[in-house]
Amino acid sequence: MRQRIAVVGAGPGGLAVARVLHRHGHPVAVLERDSGPAARPPGGTLDLHKGLGQLALAKAGLLPQFRVLSRPEGQAMRILDVDGTVLRDWQPRPDDDANPEIDRGQLRDLLLGPLEVRWGCRVTRVAPDDRGVVVHVAGGRQERFDLVVGADGAWSRVRSALSPVTPHYTGVTTVETALDDIDTRHPDLGRLVGDGAMAVYGVNRALVAQRGSGGHVRVHAQFRAPVDWHADLDPADAEAVRSRLLALFDGWAAPVLDLLRRGDTFTHRPLHVLPVDHTWTHVRGVTLLGDAAHLMPPLGVGANLALLEGAELAEALAADPADPDETVWAFEERMWARAGKWAKITQAGLERLVSSDPAAAIALFDEVQS
Ligand SMILES: Cc1cc2nc3c(=O)[nH]c(=O)nc-3n(C[C@H](O)[C@H](O)[C@H](O)COP(=O)(O)OP(=O)(O)OC[C@H]3O[C@@H](n4cnc5c(N)ncnc54)[C@H](O)[C@@H]3O)c2cc1C
Repeated sequence: MRQRIAVVGAGPGGLAVARVLHRHGHPVAVLERDSGPAARPPGGTLDLHKGLGQLALAKAGLLPQFRVLSRPEGQAMRILDVDGTVLRDWQPRPDDDANPEIDRGQLRDLLLGPLEVRWGCRVTRVAPDDRGVVVHVAGGRQERFDLVVGADGAWSRVRSALSPVTPHYTGVTTVETALDDIDTRHPDLGRLVGDGAMAVYGVNRALVAQRGSGGHVRVHAQFRAPVDWHADLDPADAEAVRSRLLALFDGWAAPVLDLLRRGDTFTHRPLHVLPVDHTWTHVRGVTLLGDAAHLMPPLGVGANLALLEGAELAEALAADPADPDETVWAFEERMWARAGKWAKITQAGLERLVSSDPAAAIALFDEVQS
């Protein structure tokens, strides 16, 4: 008899599970709290690594479409000193397909394809019992499944069925703004950012700008601060946030600060993480993947891991649909080992990127680029 499988969350991890199960002809229910795919801006751009995110898309049969949509030129990386001097300028080779970029919205649409998602379905909790798992949805509805995959991100509601652990603040906050149509409206900043990313590292501060498709550029101001650093600010008051940021980055080169001066709205993202060794005692019928299992600093790997975990779990379930419990158990062991390694790398990376010694950030890039 076929297992009834539910995936909570239609992010990269959840959609990868669903799309690979669908490819193998296995029905799956995807429960997503957003009211539709366009309910909120999809976010910036993601680089998909050959051995991680791209491998997942291959398992979903989507690699050819990814190659058409992705931007290999987005792998370009430039580092500036706070006075605007260019310190490093890496350009990808034309055939470099190691980490091409794709807009999050394009990736979501690619994965969605023929999937039917239950939009506007906010899971409030899941309760495993001896006959399966009951999923409780906002509004009072309940439904029983044999397996529930919690792919519901950093503040997962599924996680509490397995683990009491919640994310903690890293001490680093990001404030994000964006510039649209940069090459027409702000050509000087378009040249400054280049084809990929541009970063500036100062003492306990960093400013990173990253180009998506269509001249859309996201700017991340990162700094060490208490989690309530903005307690006296109205986050919706863009001018107040802007002037606080300009004071924080005072003395940096004018063109770099123009990236903050010309952004229109600002989003506050304190960076939280789960412990690097986060695991749980296996519970029949429920598992986690992606940020719900191993939230780590945003250093270019979280979506990649979520995609690959989703694809691997689905492939394993499709290969052995009769008793998924052993399969899920083996999946968890493998996920913990791989994610634990990346969690250590990214948490150490964040310490170097936003640190009292800006040279440590540049040295990190020299290591990665070489
Ligand atoms: C600024 C920034 C830049 C990043 N850049 C990169 C990068 O370049 N490369 C990379 O690999 N990673 C990057 N990451 C990390 C990456 O975004 C995450 O690791 C990735 O999105 C995790 O995928 P996920 O599917 O586990 O969770 P999510 O993407 O968080 O998706 C979770 C989904 O679950 C839904 N959901 C949540 N709660 C519920 C609920 N109760 N009921 C139903 N649905 C629910 C949410 O609406 C969402 O759709 C970045 C992160 C940030 C913040």
